[in-house]
Amino acid sequence: MLVTMKEILEHAVKGNYAVAAPNVGNSIEVNAAIAAAEELNAPLILDVHFENLRSKMPGPRPMGAFMRARAEEASVPVAINQDHGNFHGAVRNIQCGVTSVMCDSSMLPYEENIAAVKKTAEIAHMAYDVSIEAELGHVGHTVDTSEQTQAGLTDPDQVLHFIQETGIDALAIAIGTAHGLYPKGVEPNLDFERLATIKKLVGDFPLVLHGSSGTPNDQIYKACRMGINKVNIASDLGKSAWDAVLAANGQGPLAVVYTEGFKSKLVEMIPIYGSDGKAWKR
Ligand SMILES: [Zn+2]
Repeated sequence: MLVTMKEILEHAVKGNYAVAAPNVGNSIEVNAAIAAAEELNAPLILDVHFENLRSKMPGPRPMGAFMRARAEEASVPVAINQDHGNFHGAVRNIQCGVTSVMCDSSMLPYEENIAAVKKTAEIAHMAYDVSIEAELGHVGHTVDTSEQTQAGLTDPDQVLHFIQETGIDALAIAIGTAHGLYPKGVEPNLDFERLATIKKLVGDFPLVLHGSSGTPNDQIYKACRMGINKVNIASDLGKSAWDAVLAANGQGPLAVVYTEGFKSKLVEMIPIYGSDGKAWKR
């Protein structure tokens, strides 16, 4: 069942859980993600990277059409979200069939971030009834020094103003995670005090966690009970898939082994997010 991200997140807020948003870059990963969600009867947000849908030509590209078809026939609610894009990408990718866009201008100064997101939110809502996510503070990369990552943590004093000014449907916050895989022996410590402060301010408004890979499961579990309603996961899924391929050592079809590795990590994480058994029907 293809739905908007707004609909999925409204259910998640009410139930106080988070929905898995696996990064998918090809048909194998789309199928593996949907299979995991169906196995656990969980709603799902397919996060597709901007570049995977990008087209200079008018009309939907095959990836968008394929994802919509798979989402429509899935037994669980599925949203298709364009991850980390800009205004121009959003316009193009909405035509490729996504039901949500993330407009990430979090590296810009505050007022410029608002202006870029507001423009994208208007076109997403008015022209297409598509949901929109934006980021306040900045979730960096694991190669950043911890000092840089700290500097990008979301300022709770800006949160309500940002939501009101932009008209977004979900807010990604920076509370100590980073994109990518951490060097061996390094793991993040989430700023739960900051999360609690932000959740108290926003009430029923959905919050998103990016860069979840490498975060200890107990911290993810806690964050998903404290107001995080969408967890983006990419690197850990790719790692699990390729670990399975290496372990198989050439035995079995590559696509099947890769699928199993990708899916098994998601099946492990969905109950930690709390969204297992939370699918609904119309
Ligand atoms: Zn991200």
